[in-house]
Amino acid sequence: MIRAHRLTKDLLDFLALKMRAKTSREFLQALQAWVGKNLGVFPDESVSAFRLEYYAKISLSELPIEQTNLRFEEELERLGTAPPSTADSLAMRIRDILWSGVTLTLPMVCDQCHADWLRVLQEICSERLVYVCDRCGWAENGDGRWSGQSELMPAHTQVLRAQGLI
Ligand SMILES: [Zn+2]
Repeated sequence: MIRAHRLTKDLLDFLALKMRAKTSREFLQALQAWVGKNLGVFPDESVSAFRLEYYAKISLSELPIEQTNLRFEEELERLGTAPPSTADSLAMRIRDILWSGVTLTLPMVCDQCHADWLRVLQEICSERLVYVCDRCGWAENGDGRWSGQSELMPAHTQVLRAQGLI
């Protein structure tokens, strides 16, 4: 566990990004660059649990950042007013911001828990879309419950466009 003052400094450095980022895409690019340079700041377990190496390398140019629900100004404000108290919780916050910033959500009702939106992912190998519920983990495709074995990743802009979803 890193010391609290070091964590606070890292966080303030992060907040300085606010001065440069004018759009969600610029914000995520800056955040991603920061994560890539600072992987060593986090405990190994946090890097692994929150897949920070994956997020540091994910190709933002292919992802529908402008169409997601990310409000980066709100995230910056929340980091300032309610800063994470440990490196582990900062890692989780960063994961949450990046994930919500690169995945499209749609107003679809979850069959299982009746949440009113689903997150659009795609199978890594096939580009087939899979709609996933954040709340209960339900996953479906066009034919009902998804039972595929493929790893999932954020749906790419090009795939979403081809399906007429954006
Ligand atoms: Zn659900």
